[in-house]
Amino acid sequence: MEKRVRLRFAPSPTGGLHMGGVRTALFCYLFAKKHGGDFILRIEDTDQTRYVNGAEEYIINSLKWCGIEPNEGVGFGDGPHAPYRQSERKELGIYKKYADQLIAAGHAYYAFDTSEDLDAMRKRLEAAKVVAPQYNAVTRQTMRNSLTLSEDEVKKLMDAGTSYVIRLKVPRNEEIRFHDIIRGWVVVNSTQVDDKVLLKSDGMPTYHLAHIVDDIEMEVSHAVRGEEWLPSAPSHVLIYRYLGMEDKMPLLAHLPLILKPDGNGKLSKRDKSGLPMFPLNWYDERTKESYVGYRESGFFPEAFINMLALLGWNPGGNQEIMSKEELINLFSFERVNKSGAKFDPEKTKWFNQQYLRQKSDAELVDLFMPIVKEKGITAEPKFVEGVCRLVKEKAHFVNEFWDNSVYFFTAPTSYDAEVLKKRLNEQTGNFIKEVATAYAGLNSFTALETEATFKATAEKLGIGAGQVMQLFRVSISGVGGGPALFEMIELLGKEEIINRLQTFSKNNSL
Ligand code: GLU
Repeated sequence: MEKRVRLRFAPSPTGGLHMGGVRTALFCYLFAKKHGGDFILRIEDTDQTRYVNGAEEYIINSLKWCGIEPNEGVGFGDGPHAPYRQSERKELGIYKKYADQLIAAGHAYYAFDTSEDLDAMRKRLEAAKVVAPQYNAVTRQTMRNSLTLSEDEVKKLMDAGTSYVIRLKVPRNEEIRFHDIIRGWVVVNSTQVDDKVLLKSDGMPTYHLAHIVDDIEMEVSHAVRGEEWLPSAPSHVLIYRYLGMEDKMPLLAHLPLILKPDGNGKLSKRDKSGLPMFPLNWYDERTKESYVGYRESGFFPEAFINMLALLGWNPGGNQEIMSKEELINLFSFERVNKSGAKFDPEKTKWFNQQYLRQKSDAELVDLFMPIVKEKGITAEPKFVEGVCRLVKEKAHFVNEFWDNSVYFFTAPTSYDAEVLKKRLNEQTGNFIKEVATAYAGLNSFTALETEATFKATAEKLGIGAGQVMQLFRVSISGVGGGPALFEMIELLGKEEIINRLQTFSKNNSL
């Protein structure tokens, strides 16, 4: 029988979840949904020294905001495999059993080395010009462990409560082969693999043991994670084999790195490209650093995940804007690239702009109205809707609307000096007054009519429309650029426009 598709996102709560982590979660989510499977959130908090308060809640809130919610796991309801926090699972003795099984089968051993012993070993190896000193099949023979000490000595040390760790016994010179859905077959010689610690002296499992035990017990079908975990995959393959559970090993997929915009190295959480690296605002109370979020910067979650999905994956074809449902339909690990994916800040903003354009004017009113209110303005929803319709074309974010539309809500008190200097003279000043008079006589004040009247007045005074267009705009809005002028005029309405034109004449002593 085919294994049920079950993917887990397994972050460590050692800080805010950066966008690389969100991408891992997203790919897991898309694949799970595509195959009608489960998406699980497991919290890997075995390294208590790196635990950061608030990180777990942050992870949960981020997944919620992105709309990629697990259907099982911490914060999302207990399934049949609860608890989903490794520290709690450790209390239940879940991991120790497996470590003991490996010891009993001769594939793991106790090591009593102190940190001084380990330091001394490293120095010795460095002096002997060993490039990557490690605790392995060769060096373990010179260390204090249950392979070099007699049974009696081991027992004595244990009885005396000497602290120890359990290490994986990696064979000396063996080929380890495994398949990665993205990278194909990977072959590593065991000489490059160290005897990883499986259980620490405080009884806590390390990531290596814990995630394997959990993936087995939680019946995970695919283990999907960042490329940085690829070097430890050979140890994991051995652990499955030595537990006699190779058939329970999930399929592996190691995702490509996300690179800096210039392609030079890994994107860091302190990247200076001007765009956020975190989904939500994040304050790290340990380092006292604050990071701005995509949410708070005005991104739509749909735009954010659409952009992330294409960082390292492409469905073929030219389509870039994809709804979550389309992403689910199209997603496969086979189409994830091996090589790093460059983060593109401009493109990221472009995605938001596309989603902004897709929003209906009514939806935009809901988003923009709170900003308008915050500025102390009371405006009719219909009017705000009109403003949204006019300013959305040029914006990437709703939070840009205000700066581009202030003059819809308050009449200008100053006018673009450059334009006045260049365009304002007796003739053009006279033109503004004439238009005000002509407008006063209009019964219907639509864009069409106001434009026709504007042109007719220019003709009557013998001025080219182009000559006065910008000055006319400035007399209404104060600034030289903006949305379609006559639509703006229609929206502001007859009374307001005539007032503004008269004020302009007065302020400029025409
Ligand atoms: N806890 C690991 C991390 O922080 C999970 C790696 C994995 O998915 O196996 O990335």
